[in-house]
Amino acid sequence: MNIAFLGLGAIGRPMAARIAAAGMPLAVWNRTAERAASFARETGARHAHTPADAARGADVVITCLSTSHDVASLLDGPDGLMAGLRKGATLIDCTSGDPATSRRIAARLAEQGVGFIDAPVSGGTTGAEKGTLTVMVGGDAATLDRVRPVLQAFGQKIVHCGDVGAGDAVKAVNNAFLAIHVLATAEGLAALVKAGVDPALALDVINSSSGRSNTSMNLFPERVLSRAFPRTFRLALLEKDIGIAADMARDNRVPAPILQLAADLFRVARGELGETADHVEAVKMIEQWAGVEIA
Ligand code: NDP
Repeated sequence: MNIAFLGLGAIGRPMAARIAAAGMPLAVWNRTAERAASFARETGARHAHTPADAARGADVVITCLSTSHDVASLLDGPDGLMAGLRKGATLIDCTSGDPATSRRIAARLAEQGVGFIDAPVSGGTTGAEKGTLTVMVGGDAATLDRVRPVLQAFGQKIVHCGDVGAGDAVKAVNNAFLAIHVLATAEGLAALVKAGVDPALALDVINSSSGRSNTSMNLFPERVLSRAFPRTFRLALLEKDIGIAADMARDNRVPAPILQLAADLFRVARGELGETADHVEAVKMIEQWAGVEIA
């Protein structure tokens, strides 16, 4: 299968590298062209200069951009994806997207005989490098079966969640939990530090108790106590994800005050910390409010 990959960001790049390493013929496109050029130099992939150029001749086109709207913005015009996609091809959108926009994109592509699945991923940049991502798929089961070998280049657990948009929906809720865990763990540990308890000791206890989470087990020891705060997943993107989850709850008339509050807090954090901050840096906002450092 000929593959095209569009969007060589923090997670897209290592995902595309896994496809190149698996020996599949690969064309890459990135808005900031130098990123695609350096990837092509390193891996031997073809550097495509427009989305249409990338899609031309591809059986499978993978997008991994910030938002579903960014993906939709690549469809039209003489250089757009629609101009290059051939009938029978499949677009796999690995963006953590929003279900409604994914459904609109799928309908547009269907007019041209192109298949679509939403396939957001979880597992972080390290999981992408190792090929151990979880992939949450929305769309037609037969389409998924056809492209499964491509997803297996970077995904370990590949789950069909339902119709188009279902992968996005599950991903948004997963990330809402992540956002809530980051905030709640920061609040709890800030209180413990102020009460005179060593945060490393507290985490050790919590991590063998019922309040533990990936956030308490991995993110806090590796990124907060160490004050390392590596930038692997932008806070702005997590703010987008919890917003999608909160909107989905509202659209389905589910009272969700915790989701709404966490979405609001992440909106404030995005405003205070900016577009390049990592998601775990939301902890710094709680620390500032509490007047204490969790270290
Ligand atoms: P980055 O911010 O690192 O990269 C974003 C990518 O999208 C870049 O290639 C950027 O191009 C491109 N892009 C953004 N807007 C547009 C646009 N309007 N037109 C064309 N290209 C555009 O994000 P990540 O790689 O971290 O995330 C990508 C997706 O994966 C997001 O939906 C995110 O939520 C999700 N995700 C990220 C994880 C992570 O650990 N980082 C984990 C799981 C999911 P350019 O280089 O020109 O800026």
